[in-house]
Amino acid sequence: MINLILFGKPGSGKGTQAEFVKKKYDLIHISTGDLFRNNMSNNTDLGLLAKTYIEKGDLVPDEVTIKMLEAEVNTHPNANGFIFDGFPRTTVQAEILDQFLSTLNLSISLTIALEVDENLLIDRLISRGKDSGRADDQDRSKIQNRFNEYNKKTSPLINFYKIQNKFFKVNGVGDINDISTRIFNTIDNNI
Ligand code: AMP
Repeated sequence: MINLILFGKPGSGKGTQAEFVKKKYDLIHISTGDLFRNNMSNNTDLGLLAKTYIEKGDLVPDEVTIKMLEAEVNTHPNANGFIFDGFPRTTVQAEILDQFLSTLNLSISLTIALEVDENLLIDRLISRGKDSGRADDQDRSKIQNRFNEYNKKTSPLINFYKIQNKFFKVNGVGDINDISTRIFNTIDNNI
């Protein structure tokens, strides 16, 4: 069983690459960003709450995010494994994820960070925002705030997983298929 975390700043290609990894290893792909966006389009209470944070580029509070993530994992009792995309994003989320997985006799196998320079990401996000209409992808100050949230709250997780020998970096620039190959090699060499 493989339980993989895909890390990376907004726009680094986590969602795209998660789909390739999902197919190759037959995993369940859980993107907390997608779950929030689904809730927002259905106007659920969770969606209305999340919207106030997401539209500013702030992280949604841990307790809300963790509850949603656990509920999603619990809907797949027979999974071969999971790709967590965009979760965990804080040390509290990472600690609770470990505890939660251990109650299911599971653990994180490895974490992969897609590395892309911020200047390149801004261009990618603005162009994605034009296509998708995502408010948080269309405004440079919101994008910068998301980078700041990542640098402040998510980057400490690198050390959290390094200590456990579970942290690997992959160059996230280049041809999409080449990036997938780098990810597959990292998985195959380290599980
Ligand atoms: P993403 O699609 O992963 O870039 O997520 C879009 C937005 O959803 C983020 O900017 C956050 O506001 C929110 N979000 C997604 N995942 C999390 C998380 N693990 N913790 C807190 N907020 C999150």
